[in-house]
Amino acid sequence: MEGTRKCPSCGGTMIFKPGWDSLLCQSCGHKEVIPELVSKIPVDELDFLTAQNTASHDWGMEAKVVVCKQCGAQTIQNRLQLSGLCPFCGSTTVEQADPEKDIMAPNGVIPFKITEERALYIFKDWIKDRTLAPDLLAQNAQLNKFYGIYVPMFTFDVLTENRYTGHYNENNRTLFKSGKFQYQVDDFPVVASKQLSSDKLLLSIIKEYWTREARPYTPEALAGFPCEHYSIGLTDAWNSLGDELRFHLQQQVNKQGDSRYIMGIEMATDYFNLKYKYLIVPVWINSFFYDNKLYTIVINGQTGKINGQWPKSFGKFVEKAALLFLGGGIT
Ligand SMILES: [Zn+2]
Ligand SMILES: [Zn+2]
Repeated sequence: MEGTRKCPSCGGTMIFKPGWDSLLCQSCGHKEVIPELVSKIPVDELDFLTAQNTASHDWGMEAKVVVCKQCGAQTIQNRLQLSGLCPFCGSTTVEQADPEKDIMAPNGVIPFKITEERALYIFKDWIKDRTLAPDLLAQNAQLNKFYGIYVPMFTFDVLTENRYTGHYNENNRTLFKSGKFQYQVDDFPVVASKQLSSDKLLLSIIKEYWTREARPYTPEALAGFPCEHYSIGLTDAWNSLGDELRFHLQQQVNKQGDSRYIMGIEMATDYFNLKYKYLIVPVWINSFFYDNKLYTIVINGQTGKINGQWPKSFGKFVEKAALLFLGGGIT
């Protein structure tokens, strides 16, 4: 968030520099390494059951929640910062939410590694062979701009005890098998953004981070970058995992060192020692309207992977051209 730090040598604004784990002065180029980010300190795993009482609400700065009136996205900004664009839809009609709103603060951050220049390069390479790419790029200046934003993510660790039944084939016979095993789930992610997680294309990109590279939260990683406020709370995030986690655990049955391939697995699981991390993770995002529809493209700010929505047809352009052709003119 801009305005959080002043340059000690010239008084200019320092913003986070992707890939450098540093703050960089916009005016004189003075650079300061952020100690938390270059440390090897891992992010604490927090106890889920006591989270209500123990979760931090300290952002290390005066934070406010800003709501977009067009798409409803909520972002967290420094209280001193003037509200700007909504990174999700480009709208300028944003307003401050209820100031009483309690904002749980993250305990870890994955800093941006990919610079904006690199993001644009990745994007141009990605759209190279797509329909309309040259036309849209020429017409829409918005397309040449990516916004960096931190997106909220919960990750879960939990010890599981699993009992299963199933069957396997041997010499053309089907044989019954049952067993039990313990399995430690590590850093299972839930993207806590309804805006981005409702679309599978976008989700595939913003779910896959090297969470081992997360570092203890520091507001300095947010200098110059807004952060989306989670729209899926901690408990809802854990509850949303049901099917996905069950599927993950079922896959472990066939990794238990038994060479037989077990099918038709039925399983019962007990969960112990549930822990979580609340991370904010870096995303470059580009949203644009075409034919009255909002398209969103995201780039993982750590890995550089890209995916998103892109118009498939000429939409309105074709329609207009056809009318002109058939009608011989405009009425
Ligand atoms: Zn300076
Ligand atoms: Zn918006």
